[in-house]
Amino acid sequence: MMKSWDHVIIGGGIMGASLAYHLTRHGNEKVLLIEKSFAGAGSTGKSGAILRQHYSHEITIAMAREGLDWYSRFEEEHGRSISFHRPGMAFICTEENRPNLQRNVELQQRLGVKTKIIDAKELRELEPGGTFRDDECAAWESEAGNVQPVQAVNQILAVAEEQGTEVLIGRRVVSLIEEGSRITGVELDDQQRIAAGNVVICAGPWSGQMLQEAGVDLPLTAIRPEQAFFEPPPGAHERRLIYGDLTHGLYWKPELAGWTRVGLLDMDSDAVVDDPDHYDEGVSHEFIQGCRQKLSQRLPHYGLSPSWGGVGALYTVTPDSHPIIGPVPGREGAWIVSGFSGHGFKMAPAVCRGVASILGSAPAGAFVADFFSPLRFEQGAPIEVTYGYGILG
Ligand SMILES: Cc1cc2nc3c(=O)[nH]c(=O)nc-3n(C[C@H](O)[C@H](O)[C@H](O)COP(=O)(O)OP(=O)(O)OC[C@H]3O[C@@H](n4cnc5c(N)ncnc54)[C@H](O)[C@@H]3O)c2cc1C
Repeated sequence: MMKSWDHVIIGGGIMGASLAYHLTRHGNEKVLLIEKSFAGAGSTGKSGAILRQHYSHEITIAMAREGLDWYSRFEEEHGRSISFHRPGMAFICTEENRPNLQRNVELQQRLGVKTKIIDAKELRELEPGGTFRDDECAAWESEAGNVQPVQAVNQILAVAEEQGTEVLIGRRVVSLIEEGSRITGVELDDQQRIAAGNVVICAGPWSGQMLQEAGVDLPLTAIRPEQAFFEPPPGAHERRLIYGDLTHGLYWKPELAGWTRVGLLDMDSDAVVDDPDHYDEGVSHEFIQGCRQKLSQRLPHYGLSPSWGGVGALYTVTPDSHPIIGPVPGREGAWIVSGFSGHGFKMAPAVCRGVASILGSAPAGAFVADFFSPLRFEQGAPIEVTYGYGILG
């Protein structure tokens, strides 16, 4: 062993970068982050990075609140832009879904979220160019925001480096070093062996396979969601808000480039990816046409807008669509922080501050470790969500 670290983080996505930030912000422990490609090379770089608080459980609402607040203050605190904006977000549904929406909105309001139910008339006032049925309503969250994900991960990592994190880019962890039931470090692709008090696996879609190779089976699956991009025609009358459309199973949001990103809420049709290093990053003509058709049912000008194609991306999903966070079962000295099932970006500040409060000396926040326990599936206690769309939580 050449060198020893208190914490070795595998992965330079939003989780790895945020964990490095929180570990080094509140302590003087030695932290090394290892990234095989570049910061944001996994799910993070292609993320929608929508920061909404619209969840259906008090723990996830509180965590989303902490995340939104943290991202909103980042530039002021660190003098680095992550392009934080607050367009606001509307979750549209029909009367059939209204009782769930109502219950969730009331829970969110009790926890301090500025949100309310609006009816079809108010929806039309919010988005005058939009088409909404009389039997539809929405939850309107005025504070919902957005960041630019590649900027965000790089800036958070840069601050973590300033705080003392050592960052190794372009080196792959090929195995976890085991001594009995303890993980004592990692081995890299240049055969370098690195000792660690804690190894934290923040390897996104690669996490399940990495654990399997160490003999640990956790239900972490990589899947391939698709996104399409459209350019609103010049002069189109649109408020440029973020929408979750439960009627059509769609979400869309304005991108910094001026385009509109469209994705599906339902993950059931996303293909399983066996090798996240080699997957199809393109999308089919049918997918783009399907998104255009659904989006233009809401905002008719998209029927006449050019598409800039789309992108195949990666989610790491679990059976209950919530992350797996905690000590790796049967392996002391290792933690897993993965499985964010398409909605982890906003959670990263709360999750990573929480993990850093357990492994280091960060102050505790909204994160509740037991809630995300790696053991919950074998114990038959998955997290229950209100929505059929797991991505909504
Ligand atoms: C299209 C899309 C839209 C999304 N929209 C939203 C949204 O609007 N709001 C929201 O909250 N969330 C959203 N998400 C989810 C969110 O982006 C993810 O939950 C989050 O980015 C996961 O981050 P991560 O750090 O866990 O994983 P990743 O970003 O995948 O990072 C893992 C990193 O580990 C590295 N790595 C893997 N194996 C090794 C190894 N052996 N050695 C060294 N490095 C390794 C990889 O190269 C990668 O950089 C979206 C995701 C996608 C794909």
